[in-house]
Amino acid sequence: MNICVVGAGYVGLVTGTVFADLGNEVTCVDKLGGKINALRAGRMPIYEPGLEEMVARNTADGRLSFTTDLASAVRRAEIVFIAVGTPPKADGDTDLSAVEEAAKGIGAAMDRYMVVVNKSTVPVGTGDFVRDVILRYQTQRVPFDVVSNPEFLREGSAIEDTLRPDRIVIGAPSQQVAMTLLELYAPLERPMIITDVHSAEMIKYASNAFLALKISFMNTIANVCEAAGADVTQVTKGVGLDARIGPAFLNAGLGYGGSCFPKDTDSLIHTAARLGHDFGILRAVVEVNRRRVPQFVEKITKVLAPLEDKVIAVLGLAFKPNTDDIRDAKSVDLIRLLWATGATIRAYDPVAVDNARAVLPASVRYASSAYEAAEGADAVVLVTEWNEFKAINLERLRVLMRRPLVFDGRNLWEPERMLRVGVEYYSIGRKPVVPSL
Ligand code: NAD
Repeated sequence: MNICVVGAGYVGLVTGTVFADLGNEVTCVDKLGGKINALRAGRMPIYEPGLEEMVARNTADGRLSFTTDLASAVRRAEIVFIAVGTPPKADGDTDLSAVEEAAKGIGAAMDRYMVVVNKSTVPVGTGDFVRDVILRYQTQRVPFDVVSNPEFLREGSAIEDTLRPDRIVIGAPSQQVAMTLLELYAPLERPMIITDVHSAEMIKYASNAFLALKISFMNTIANVCEAAGADVTQVTKGVGLDARIGPAFLNAGLGYGGSCFPKDTDSLIHTAARLGHDFGILRAVVEVNRRRVPQFVEKITKVLAPLEDKVIAVLGLAFKPNTDDIRDAKSVDLIRLLWATGATIRAYDPVAVDNARAVLPASVRYASSAYEAAEGADAVVLVTEWNEFKAINLERLRVLMRRPLVFDGRNLWEPERMLRVGVEYYSIGRKPVVPSL
């Protein structure tokens, strides 16, 4: 099939590349000329394991190309995917201006029947909106259909998730229209749900809101564990083994961040309110999450105060491991709060430093390894659970530090190991480790 993907970001670039890998002819369109030029030169605008190789292979074979010319890409396509950003507005509503702009361009270029697929995460009813915009901007009266096909990939494992998703959701106005997407996805041999457009749009928000709820729930349990002297990692194991609950998304920590959960929970609260429903449980989820970093900074301050003259090494800046994405990353909130106390911040991340530099205070220093960050530091604060931190040499870390003190925001390390090595250790929902001198 000939496919056009509008928006060559995390979602558009990955799905477009996977579609090409399945044998389709794909053109990825982005309005950023710099991004398109970089992609044409084989440079990836994002870090995503396996992406560079797959892009190279498919561009070399002539199945994948990149352009800023939306009109010509649309005219060649049978299916056009919209995969542009849908950022939050200040009031929690979803900014649909990029979706609208894409729909205008598609409408203006359309010269024969095609299926327009919304892959961006958009509030229920946006399919109708996209339809209206296309109708208004069409220069030729040709029929078209709008389908909702929400994306569930996770950054850091985006290729794998796109090749082997838990399910593929297709919200279409008729079975016949759904068949186009069924055909496209058939080679993946994954479970598919065919439904109406509104329900498909809701599935995405309901899923993300429920996952966010699991996280905030367990983080609240962690607070209670801490107060009671219980161990949240044991509680998590015991809870997660219940098949009705499952172990995923139960790890206590600094809460959820990234470009999806925070905005999607806010958006659903907003949509529900617009439709006359107060989504109180979800507002509580958001509030619990908002308090995670300030509570952690309080913990750090209690142990380390005053912070003005202290050097704090922050390990991990990306909002989660295996990505360079720092949108709504907990590291950013944490560093800003610590920095405001006058502490000196030395940060390290395997791949996200360039992105972090653009948003963090200019006085933050960046190290080229975890050990370099920890050298002479009064405390190490773990924010992102990269594998390389898990395997860190704690003895070496202890020797390098001015004070062997670790705050673990993701329960990455074992308290027993810290005790053995002689590191003072504070984690989430577990007893602190204070080795005797
Ligand atoms: P992104 O910011 O990485 O990419 C969006 C791209 O669209 C950018 O490159 C931007 O330049 C381009 N763009 C914007 N307007 C355009 C236009 N009019 N014409 C052409 N290009 C345009 O965003 P993303 O992370 O890929 O997310 C895209 C959508 O997918 C969002 O709705 C998001 O909520 C959803 N989503 C994201 C993820 C994720 O993990 N990132 C997962 C599932 C769903």
